[in-house]
Amino acid sequence: MDTVIVIEDCAVATVDALGTEYRRGHVVLRGNRIDVVGAGAAPAVDGQVQRIDGRGCLLTPGLVNTHHHLYQWITRGLAADNTLFEWLTTLYPIWAGIDEEAVRVAATGGLAALARTGCTTSTDHHYVFPHEGGDLLGAEIAAAADVGLRFHPCRGSMDLGTSAGGLPPDQVVQTLDAILVDSAEAIARHHDSSFDSMLRIALAPCSPFSVTPELLRESAVLARESGVRLHTHVAETIDEQDYCAQTFGCTPAQYMEQLGWVGPDVWWAHAIHLDDTAIDTMAKTGTGVAHCPTSNARIGAGVARAADLVRAGVPVGLGVDGAASNESSSMIEEPRNALFYARNRGGPRAMTVRTSLALATIGGARVLGRDAEIGSIEPGKLADLALWRLDTPAHAGIDDPVTALVLGSAPPLAALIVNGRTVVRDGRLCTVDEDTVGAEVAKAQAALVAKAG
Ligand SMILES: [Zn+2]
Repeated sequence: MDTVIVIEDCAVATVDALGTEYRRGHVVLRGNRIDVVGAGAAPAVDGQVQRIDGRGCLLTPGLVNTHHHLYQWITRGLAADNTLFEWLTTLYPIWAGIDEEAVRVAATGGLAALARTGCTTSTDHHYVFPHEGGDLLGAEIAAAADVGLRFHPCRGSMDLGTSAGGLPPDQVVQTLDAILVDSAEAIARHHDSSFDSMLRIALAPCSPFSVTPELLRESAVLARESGVRLHTHVAETIDEQDYCAQTFGCTPAQYMEQLGWVGPDVWWAHAIHLDDTAIDTMAKTGTGVAHCPTSNARIGAGVARAADLVRAGVPVGLGVDGAASNESSSMIEEPRNALFYARNRGGPRAMTVRTSLALATIGGARVLGRDAEIGSIEPGKLADLALWRLDTPAHAGIDDPVTALVLGSAPPLAALIVNGRTVVRDGRLCTVDEDTVGAEVAKAQAALVAKAG
């Protein structure tokens, strides 16, 4: 018999198409689905029921993180004052030392931090595969199962090492053939396309300056044959724009379009330096964006045209990006930073608090092709929810709960529910031991940095 959870006496922001909200409302969850959502007290429910008192709380859909590099959780705080290219060349020799255990520990730490900040679904973009590293994709998939998040790992790749004029060291790049074999195997072993899937694979060559055009083209063919999505970094920095102009004679967006990397099954990370033509192409083709405002500011990469993208109808979600360029990796900080940068760029009306919450929820779901399943609180959708405490001194008295969530400091979670399972309760993870995770992360970080000498 299905477990039934009733959450009541809370404010509810459903983030449905009509923006339905309740000042005092309830939800009933049955198994892994949302059964009922509405105003006032919950209806009478039969059977074994777990009740969560939502007084003083706001219930939202779980947040969706559309871009990450979880392995970086154990390389935070390095190259803190460098450009992206300097930062990459400092970190690559350290990243070259990762193995299965390092990735398992890093992914557990990163996913635990995401869960504690309201995230119920996360992607990961893993593109560093040292030759003796072992099954790194399998290691992070195991970590996601332990923490209990819905997971979309992107099988990344690089085939342009230093000796071929690329940025990454040769020991972390693979040949095109090896990448295609590994990518096909990752899909066959792990990809689950079912409605309530906890695990979907995407293919994700790293970036224009670390992969060949053949790898981008062939990955797109394989992804489309296999029914999985495509993800990569595009237009993150001016350096990348200059590289594409010199090497390919076009903008990063034009380059991606030439290689078949536009469409409703594609999402780009960052997409900062775009002209109007690029935005028009993305809107017409349904190409999505993982907007990462905190990372962009940390790296000083620029301010994305997020409001212009939203206005044009481009699917936009939010992402924390890798922890080495966003040490907090707090998912709830992303809607606030998205709003701040949008307003700094486009003025006070550039983005509302509700639009920024929508980007972090249904927007991300749309980018991942899962807006029929997650991203809003509606009957029949999956039970992925965040219950935020707004009754502590930090938030009590802020007039509007959605404003309190987006513009206030990060509130504690009363509960985080993923696929009907309680992952966080009263601010603490229920699935993994936080103290053990912290100790393992510190040990793995020290070992990895020592290994690089
Ligand atoms: Zn990234």
